[in-house]
Amino acid sequence: MLEVRGLDVAYGAIKAVRGVDLTATSGQITALIGANGAGKSSLMRAVSGITPPARGAILLDGEDITRMPAHERARRGLAHAMEGRRIFHQHTVEENLVTAWHFRRPDGSFKDALDQVYDRFSILRERRRAKAGTLSGGQQQTLILSMATLHSPRFLLLDEPSLGLAPVIVSQIFDFIRDYARADRVVLLSEQLATLALRVADQGYVLKHGEVVTRGSRAELSSRGIADSLSSAYLGTA
Ligand code: ATP
Repeated sequence: MLEVRGLDVAYGAIKAVRGVDLTATSGQITALIGANGAGKSSLMRAVSGITPPARGAILLDGEDITRMPAHERARRGLAHAMEGRRIFHQHTVEENLVTAWHFRRPDGSFKDALDQVYDRFSILRERRRAKAGTLSGGQQQTLILSMATLHSPRFLLLDEPSLGLAPVIVSQIFDFIRDYARADRVVLLSEQLATLALRVADQGYVLKHGEVVTRGSRAELSSRGIADSLSSAYLGTA
């Protein structure tokens, strides 16, 4: 379980996250829903240890990790796939996967992990010798997801995994994320569009100006018409 309690993240005078309480449980996908600038990335960066919070606490399975360095959190099974496509464009698909594997110095079999990736996303097997920079946006996102999940982290943070992708790829990616969460993992995913988030998430937290304005299960958020009210917030008319 991932718990966030009374979290504030600030950049000088800018308060990006204000008093956020959140619980994400195993086997479920929890969505952070909010417009551009709502504080989703800042919250995730605090959880993964990139940005130190100004206040509050972060717990993994009850252990307080608030002041733990990012690499220690990674050793405890936390992975963060950030917005902005962190892959090596000049390296091949397979070289990227090799790098992701060695980065964590795991003890399992790379070949097994690689086979799993290629069985899941056959396009990555087909293009394994292609430079990653030549992949389409959707293919790059499957590579990013594969790199982030190569060691089967128990806590997976995904920053806008559907951003700018074609609907057919989004469905494939969401299927993958759903299966991943079902195997007893905690998945926290950020998404600007509530309708998209509620397609995949079991529960959601709606952020506005750094604060949680609504939370609930998918059914609760859907029945409250959160998608509609959010899209007007998204467009800046609410
Ligand atoms: P996006 O969809 O653009 O990623 P977001 O919901 O993830 O939006 P954040 O990126 O967390 O929101 O931004 C929240 C607020 O903090 C915004 O006002 C943003 O301008 C500000 N902010 C984010 N990163 C920094 C930074 N490194 N320095 C200063 N201000 C920042």
